[in-house]
Amino acid sequence: MQKFFILLKSTFFRWWFMVTLLYSSSATCPCCGRQGCPVGLGFSAILGFIFVSLAKLLVKIARARKLLFGRILCFFGVLSLACLLSSCVTPPVPRQAAQPCALNLPPSLPPATRSDILHTVAPGENLWRISKMYDVPSERIISANNLVSKEPVLKKGQKLLIPGASPVAPVISLYASSKWKYIIIHHSATDEGNSLAFDKAHQRRGWSGLGYHFVIDNGTKGKKDGQIEVSPRWLKQKDGSHCRAAGMNSRAIGICLVGNFNNERPSAKQMESLVFLVNKLKKYYKIPSRRILGHGQVDGASTDCPGKRFPWREFYSRIE
Ligand SMILES: [Zn+2]
Repeated sequence: MQKFFILLKSTFFRWWFMVTLLYSSSATCPCCGRQGCPVGLGFSAILGFIFVSLAKLLVKIARARKLLFGRILCFFGVLSLACLLSSCVTPPVPRQAAQPCALNLPPSLPPATRSDILHTVAPGENLWRISKMYDVPSERIISANNLVSKEPVLKKGQKLLIPGASPVAPVISLYASSKWKYIIIHHSATDEGNSLAFDKAHQRRGWSGLGYHFVIDNGTKGKKDGQIEVSPRWLKQKDGSHCRAAGMNSRAIGICLVGNFNNERPSAKQMESLVFLVNKLKKYYKIPSRRILGHGQVDGASTDCPGKRFPWREFYSRIE
């Protein structure tokens, strides 16, 4: 026990503790890209130990050789090495390409289920996303549409022929972030709609485009029933513009289901997609069920959104 306290008081331990603390507060875990996870802390502690041991060794050599300003030189040497190494693990790596996930669909479907379709480019969609959604290589889409560039800039509303498209699958990118604490569910209170239509409507209100992070379609306006559309706000990890009450715009993921649920219930496919999406986000961002709310359940919000007929009991029973 006494030895332990002597160790705690030692200069080596103090330096080790300081370097580990500094390192873990500035760098992120090389495995998961998050800050403060146990693996990242362990990694920082090991690196801290290596740095301080190295510094100690260098000071010893400098002392033995009586180098002028040896200690100062060593200190800065080790510090720059620490900075150099820490740049390998920062900043957090966005998981866009690593985390696309499909809704109960195999990655590649047999040719019989494929067909040529005309796709209207929605807000935030690029060729990579559309290629994943329909499981068709970008090169095929480029040649089918005579696109000049290999990385064409697509315009919202642009029509694209997708040759041999599979049934549309959601491509949900997940990003390491501590911003998202709540999930808020809305209905569009319209019979029809899609992300492009709401984007235009929200722009007319003076907002910077579509206010939600996700839209779940109901089979109108050229979209499939239950199709999940990802908004540019999600792709850029920007605040929503869907629920001003309780400061939710900056900490809640906004999901809108197309339909008016004061008159009807969401379709079975919309519910299936909603449950899939919420479970995915809930698990990744560690959001407890009590923080998954309807717009009208937020303190200070005076709205009946997402409608009187939204099936809350069924929804919560399917949330994992
Ligand atoms: Zn709402």
